[in-house]
Amino acid sequence: MNHPDEFAARHIGPDRAAQQAMLARLGVDSVEALLDETLPSAIRSDDSLALPAARSEAEVVAALRAMAAENRPRTSLIGMGYATTHTPPVIQRNVLENPAWYTAYTPYQPEISQGRLEALLNFQTVVSELTGLEVANASLLDEATAAAEAMTMARRLSKSPSARFVVHHDTHPQTIAVLGTRAEPVGIDLVVGGLDELSPEAGGCFGALFSLPTSTGAVVDWRQAIETVHQLGGLAVVATDLLACTLITPPGELGADIAIGSAQRFGVPLGFGGPHAAFLSAHTAAARALPGRLVGVSVDTEGRPALRLALQTREQHIRREKATSNICTAQVLLANMAGLYAAWHGPAGLRAIATRAAGAVNDLAGRLAAAGLTLRHDAAFDTITVDGVDADAVVAAARDRGIDLRRVDDTSVGISWGEATPDVRADVLAAFGLSAAVDPSPADLRPDWLPDGMKRTSEFLTQSVFHRLHTEHEMLRYLRRLADRDLALDRTMIPLGSCTMKLNATTEMMSITWPEFADLHPFAPDDESVGTRRLIAELEAWLAEITGYDAVSVQPNAGSQGEFAGLLAIRAYHRSRGDEQRTVCLIPSSAHGTNAASAVMAGFDVVVVATDPDGNVDVDDLDAKLAASGDCVAAVMITYPSTHGVFEEQITEICARVHDAGGQVYIDGANLNALVGLARPGRFGADVSHLNLHKTFCIPHGGGGPGVGPIGVRAHLAPFLPGDPLGGDDQPVGPVSAARFGSAGILNIPWAYIALMGPQGLRDATAAAILSANYVAARLADHFPVLYTGAKGRVGHECIIDLRAITKASGVTVDDVAKRLIDYGFHAPTMSFPVAGTLMIEPTESEPLAELDRFCDAMIAIRGEIDRVLDGDWAVADSPLRHAPHTAEDLLADEWTRPYRRSEAAYPLPSLRADKYFAPVSRIDGASGDRNLICTCDSLEALATLR
Ligand SMILES: *Cc1c(COP(=O)(O)O)cnc(C)c1O
Repeated sequence: MNHPDEFAARHIGPDRAAQQAMLARLGVDSVEALLDETLPSAIRSDDSLALPAARSEAEVVAALRAMAAENRPRTSLIGMGYATTHTPPVIQRNVLENPAWYTAYTPYQPEISQGRLEALLNFQTVVSELTGLEVANASLLDEATAAAEAMTMARRLSKSPSARFVVHHDTHPQTIAVLGTRAEPVGIDLVVGGLDELSPEAGGCFGALFSLPTSTGAVVDWRQAIETVHQLGGLAVVATDLLACTLITPPGELGADIAIGSAQRFGVPLGFGGPHAAFLSAHTAAARALPGRLVGVSVDTEGRPALRLALQTREQHIRREKATSNICTAQVLLANMAGLYAAWHGPAGLRAIATRAAGAVNDLAGRLAAAGLTLRHDAAFDTITVDGVDADAVVAAARDRGIDLRRVDDTSVGISWGEATPDVRADVLAAFGLSAAVDPSPADLRPDWLPDGMKRTSEFLTQSVFHRLHTEHEMLRYLRRLADRDLALDRTMIPLGSCTMKLNATTEMMSITWPEFADLHPFAPDDESVGTRRLIAELEAWLAEITGYDAVSVQPNAGSQGEFAGLLAIRAYHRSRGDEQRTVCLIPSSAHGTNAASAVMAGFDVVVVATDPDGNVDVDDLDAKLAASGDCVAAVMITYPSTHGVFEEQITEICARVHDAGGQVYIDGANLNALVGLARPGRFGADVSHLNLHKTFCIPHGGGGPGVGPIGVRAHLAPFLPGDPLGGDDQPVGPVSAARFGSAGILNIPWAYIALMGPQGLRDATAAAILSANYVAARLADHFPVLYTGAKGRVGHECIIDLRAITKASGVTVDDVAKRLIDYGFHAPTMSFPVAGTLMIEPTESEPLAELDRFCDAMIAIRGEIDRVLDGDWAVADSPLRHAPHTAEDLLADEWTRPYRRSEAAYPLPSLRADKYFAPVSRIDGASGDRNLICTCDSLEALATLR
């Protein structure tokens, strides 16, 4: 028995005895022998990782407390797109801190995701209604990258031949910086300036971005400017603030084509920069060009309204280098929180919060003006800028009083108010050398200081969900009802290949909502974030040790963004050596779809390399493509172990050949769960990798985000890591996220995981993950063909079972198996990736043997049902497989005409009788939802009442 304090034994599902039983099943003597049969010796690096020894849960919590104590957040009036907010406790505890919400996977299986899909539909409705545009996506990564997505969307939709995209200069500097990073590789001419840049002589534009309110606080009527952009054939993007939109005329009503922004101030903590949900809304006509995911309404087989991700065929896996964007993991958990915040307060409550913030700033403005100070703008919402002062002196005086103001430039200071900003008006005035006793003259107090055309007159959020959840009982029960519709890790294993749905331990999660971590503004002075920055520095060093790289940046806030950042580093490196012609990026056909999409964003030409029949990179084809590309080879992107779950023997050889051709090797590290403690990509030949901390390092999936996608690089690429968002133009590479450390607020989770596991625990976890995958493969192999194995017949940390022959013989599809698993209480494995007609299973190290067996038993029982179809007992169209999942309503119908018994449908295994999950809807019609795109709650209510 392990020591009770030993966390690794709680994280790793199979204990020693279970592992022995699993090994016996495989006919292998020891875990070490299995590893020898699985990993090529050429990549092994078995010396123990130089990481601190494992600590107990109590010790880790104490260490986090100590770091929290080193953080000293002041009251932040910095603004710049980040506002103080009060997370309603009912949402904090029952969503943000509730595993039913945070351990869910992305809702690709809509039948078991109706709860979070409804929450996302609420979010889309909030964004659509507040911005005044008809469709909104289900979140993007941050405001700055949302602006970049809007820019490329405008380019796709505009008929203007111009390569110019104009950004009004009064836009958040971090947004301008990220736009710059994203524009240059794809040949967009980013122009930062005033309205004169829209004059016909200036050269036209395919789009322009204005801010409402602006970065320094102005509420500008952009109608005329938007009209000018339209005359140039461009699209107008407005970066806006959802709370401001409750009081001011929203972008859609001004004529904007696209609105973007951050929903952070709708109840999501600052977290030193993230994670927060960004949004993007547009006109219905542009729905098919929207980046990211979109929740839509469809119907199930019985005509019940049912939610699903719409237009899934646009996803990167299908479109690859033609994808609209590389966004995969987004910010679902935070989007859900923002939508629920709006439901909790309702339109009147939101307006009251907005009015209070505007009122405080208005009062300050009046007093400052009465004292003779100069305000930059006449009309504002929650932010003002004072000109003509000694900015350093004012900011320093404010700091002494525990307040952060924004230093706009040498002579200007910004003041921004949020929902949770305490009444520090007297201190703010004092920082300017004024006394609070100075009374503003009535002329200076402008209770009505929004210009007439800029006051919102239209109604918003009239849907019932924004009116019936204002008491805590109703909200609590709504949250429970939604969560109960879904299957998350708190109920069942989620055997998703490539996604590593492992344990998200409570101790890892606990500290993220502590105010010392949660209340830090990303642009606060360094003395406030000593603890968090220590945590980040340690995490970066530990990740460097684990991966064998020399430097790590945690800035990218998803794997896709890490890919982009890593490829930018490669591009900048080649350019720094005068190799501008190196623009070819070789990508195997089996790669994750984001790889190709990211390569295009980084300005590369994608050349596809074939995969051999064993699922490995076809080395002959690689040689041919390398030769054909000559000195244009920039990089190869390989996933290791491969997306087929196999450790390719030739990986070191592949790296060497690419290096010989002058290229760089990018290893997609999403499968690092198979390598930690056993092999290090930075040591076996790769130059750069992204890791997915929301896969290997225990950040929960959140129903589709947040994520963190740091990159590790070898020393020669270190100068080209992502730059500081406020670092100016002369950095070798610009920032890829709005905040320097991206989603800093959740880095505590991987820090805690590594601290708890220690070097031996991490290695044991990897070994257990490989053992579990091989055990599942072995148990299922008698019933389904296992598609790829390595040189010695072993799989890596995941396995692919091949249904193609079964489908051909029986008509039973991967969909049927996936949906039937729901009746057995399971989330489906990954469907048809990387090979169509197959299921990819990744059990992870965290699943106990009993759960692995429960899953294998379910799969084997399903195989038995397929045999009954093959035997002619059931026609496939009338089998429990095709009718799956079965709802309680279907099973309790007064009339039952199916050829199988109700109990066979509901309780195919005896164990299900005690704990039965009923899907709330039966199988959902995807095509119908895409044909009739409905993406806001309004329509859901209409549909529901029709029934
Ligand atoms: C998950 C995954 C990605 C993308 O990561 P996101 O965080 O979803 O953007 C890329 N490559 C592979 C192999 C993956 O499994």
